[in-house]
Amino acid sequence: MSKNIADVIIVGAGIAGNSAAYYCAKKGLKVIVLEEEMIGNGGSSRNGGGARVSGRDLREMPLAIYATQKIWPNLKDELGIDPEYRRKGYLVCGYNDTHKEGIKKRIKDAAKSGIEMFLIEGDDLKKINPYLSEHVTCAGWTPTDGVANPLTATLGFYKRAREMGVRFITGEKAVKINLYKGEARQVVTERGNIYEGGKIIVSAGYGGRSLINTVGLDLPLFKRLIEVIVTEPMPVMFHHMIGGMSGFYGHQTDHGSFVFGDSTGRENCMADVGGILSTSYNPSNICSHIGEDIPALKTAKIIRSWSGWVDMSNDGVPIIGNVPEVPNLVLDIGATGHGFCPGPAVGYTLAQLANNEKPDVDISKLAYERFDYAKKQPKYYFN
Ligand SMILES: Cc1cc2nc3c(=O)[nH]c(=O)nc-3n(C[C@H](O)[C@H](O)[C@H](O)COP(=O)(O)OP(=O)(O)OC[C@H]3O[C@@H](n4cnc5c(N)ncnc54)[C@H](O)[C@@H]3O)c2cc1C
Repeated sequence: MSKNIADVIIVGAGIAGNSAAYYCAKKGLKVIVLEEEMIGNGGSSRNGGGARVSGRDLREMPLAIYATQKIWPNLKDELGIDPEYRRKGYLVCGYNDTHKEGIKKRIKDAAKSGIEMFLIEGDDLKKINPYLSEHVTCAGWTPTDGVANPLTATLGFYKRAREMGVRFITGEKAVKINLYKGEARQVVTERGNIYEGGKIIVSAGYGGRSLINTVGLDLPLFKRLIEVIVTEPMPVMFHHMIGGMSGFYGHQTDHGSFVFGDSTGRENCMADVGGILSTSYNPSNICSHIGEDIPALKTAKIIRSWSGWVDMSNDGVPIIGNVPEVPNLVLDIGATGHGFCPGPAVGYTLAQLANNEKPDVDISKLAYERFDYAKKQPKYYFN
């Protein structure tokens, strides 16, 4: 086989692309991964580490459940690195009756997927977290949710896939997909290199949109800049993940630092100004929520903050699966800001699709065809 020909070409080396590469290699497939920047450049190495099933849209629950039940708990042994997956529960705090109703809805949704989530009120709140302020009046508690380390997990898949023979090429931006007899066959890069594969997996976050435009497809996507902060290491306070119905979330890592993220409401308007405004407002917004909910952290020193773009799908869940109009093209785009937790299950599923297997996980509700315009599109046969 020529150097630039493989069974599978994967565009994007995030948690999904790296894990897809690993699971493809496990199946004996020859894989090339093209990454525009560096491994884990997207949200995959920058995120808050939340590995929760609760609070998700029912359509993507099967992936999150598969990841947290079948993959995350075994990853340390499987990859030979510690992704620091800890299943110590997730407490989502509410501050008023509207939040309480929202928590009840999450409890119902979780139950539909077989996940136990409980409404916690009054004195029971402090039994789960003695540091909570009076501002928190109710909470949803999901004992089976957890956290993991984005860097070790994403790079762990990369490292293991490389050891198994996957070829990763960084600084290689994919700009075009070439069809052959109507089927996806080649990926052309900005440097003019051509990579040919039996299957092409586009797992490139927002960057995937312009790439699939080159075969006449489009997706209702936009991008958002979100941010997390890290505190100095603190004495151990609690092990579970905490969040607010307002969007605030975080946890204490193994070495004592807290990682917290939040939304200001400005995120959807940041693309045009390069995120400058967002990064100046976000940390103070996150800190004010921490202070309100956990007063003992009011004086914790913030040692670092960083931001990352996320690919938002218009209807809140990713687009994952084959594309009937373009055989051999497999899509994974639009993780919508919560794709770290299901990421390994997405990679596992992409590898099954690349190998022409029926996926173990039900991804039927995440199909590209769910968008009306997709059904109305003509079939594209360019060459
Ligand atoms: C600050 C922050 C906090 C978050 N917190 C959480 C959380 O707590 N829990 C959770 O579940 N999720 C969280 N997320 C979201 C999560 O990180 C993402 O949804 C997930 O990592 C998406 O993974 P991915 O592999 O699909 O895409 P990405 O990680 O975005 O990877 C896509 C890769 O494709 C590359 N690429 C793009 N275009 C091209 C091209 N044309 N050619 C080649 N390569 C290309 C990019 O450089 C990138 O490396 C957070 C995200 C951020 C930014």
